[in-house]
Amino acid sequence: MNHLVTCDCCGNEFYVMVRERVIDKEADNVIQTYIRCPVCHHEYTISYVNDTVRRLQRIQRDIRMSDNENPRYVEVQYNINKKRIKQEMENLKNKYSLKD
Ligand SMILES: [Zn+2]
Repeated sequence: MNHLVTCDCCGNEFYVMVRERVIDKEADNVIQTYIRCPVCHHEYTISYVNDTVRRLQRIQRDIRMSDNENPRYVEVQYNINKKRIKQEMENLKNKYSLKD
């Protein structure tokens, strides 16, 4: 994942280097994933995740990595998890992006 992006603020082109930092330890370990322009230091948030999201993502990975075809109830659970992750990340985004 080494692609070039253009900074909206200063027009500089730079290679994406994804960074992570804990922004709220108290609230379920919220981690912000972001990139930063090396020239003007403007930061662009990619996503926010917390422990709940990470736990669900691990489960999703396990389901996807299983060699056998999954039973129906696992597929149902997969779709429920998927919605849950989306919802949770949306909530985090709404909560934390205002503080940027
Ligand atoms: Zn810039």
